[in-house]
Amino acid sequence: MLDLLLTKVRLQNEARLMDVGVRKGRIAYIAPSGGESVPDALHREQGAGGMLLPGFVEPHIHLEKAYLLSRMEHEAASLQDAIQMTAEMKHGFTKEDMQARSLAVIREAVRSGVTHMRCQAEVDPILGLTAFEAALELKERVRDALDLQIVVFPQEGIFKSPGTAELMEEALRLGGDAVGGITYQDADLQAHLQLVFDMAEKHGKPLDFHADFSDNPDQLAIAEIADRTIAAGMQGLVSAGHVTSLGSLEHGRAMSVADRIKEADLHIMSLPATDLFINGRGERERPRRGLTPVGLLLEKGVNVVIGVNNVRNPFTPFGKADPLETAWLLAVTAHMGGDADARQLIQMLTEGAGRALGLRNYGLREGSEADMVLFSVPTERDILLDKPERRTVWKRGVKTAETQVASQVHGLL
Ligand SMILES: [Zn+2]
Repeated sequence: MLDLLLTKVRLQNEARLMDVGVRKGRIAYIAPSGGESVPDALHREQGAGGMLLPGFVEPHIHLEKAYLLSRMEHEAASLQDAIQMTAEMKHGFTKEDMQARSLAVIREAVRSGVTHMRCQAEVDPILGLTAFEAALELKERVRDALDLQIVVFPQEGIFKSPGTAELMEEALRLGGDAVGGITYQDADLQAHLQLVFDMAEKHGKPLDFHADFSDNPDQLAIAEIADRTIAAGMQGLVSAGHVTSLGSLEHGRAMSVADRIKEADLHIMSLPATDLFINGRGERERPRRGLTPVGLLLEKGVNVVIGVNNVRNPFTPFGKADPLETAWLLAVTAHMGGDADARQLIQMLTEGAGRALGLRNYGLREGSEADMVLFSVPTERDILLDKPERRTVWKRGVKTAETQVASQVHGLL
């Protein structure tokens, strides 16, 4: 006896309509619809030809500094300005305040179909461990809807903000899931890289960088990160967000850096909303888009994924925690308009991001955890273009969100 049977759904890379069954939180049955020996189920849901995807994986998001627009007196004029404005606001953050804004983001994400998330919790002398502890409590509180990973993130720099390294150590002891790094805050890049690689090795944790967030092709920490990853034998365990400087590098050299990224099996996280908003400034003629070079990296076989990053703060005064909105933005700005591109983008939001986060038991296959989102439209391209409000979401086989929309157009034939 199944707990749940979804009938007549469309799956990726499958032309036939399928039935998907769940037992004890896991996918226990996948077969073409209309078969003769369909198992009984306590609950049945009609898929009606809509596409069923594995739950979205949000690989890079900042929870505690989301929803700050009402506290800002002006817009950030640059990356350093955004960091400075946010650092000032952080003095007023309390745990309750951070948790309330974080939960608003998580609710939006769950409603959007997100079942796994990696957040960047800031650890520094301003906040101490309060942002980290707030995230750790939330991780437990939301566990029936979302698996939350926490990166111990030194946004203010490690050497620039003395005391940060000790706080990071403490956060990792308390349960941080990944060591964070940032290549554009400390003056001595090599010392920064050495410290975070050592910390990752000591604690047996993956590394997750904010790297090369500029249009300056001379900022190429990603090449150093690739070399160190290979030297440390950490292939597949290191991620880097932004990596936009690489998009300004001369093509031939960018190709060889991309080869090195592939060899190190780095997961590259494109954060298009923030990158488009912050980069390309100060160029009066032909301003750059300032994106991660997604096409080049995909061509080289690199695991490129997409993150929301910031929601309505100085870094990105836009957005919500819907991965489809971010994927759509990347589609438009990275020239990814075809049917194969849509399938690629959805793969990046699901299996690709799942691999970046080291998820096990993920994906729509028998034996995996039943983390799923059902749409009423039949293809990846429809999902990307429509960004449909109407979605149903399950976490380990239990329904966590359902959105229905009713609209009428009057007076037209
Ligand atoms: Zn970030």
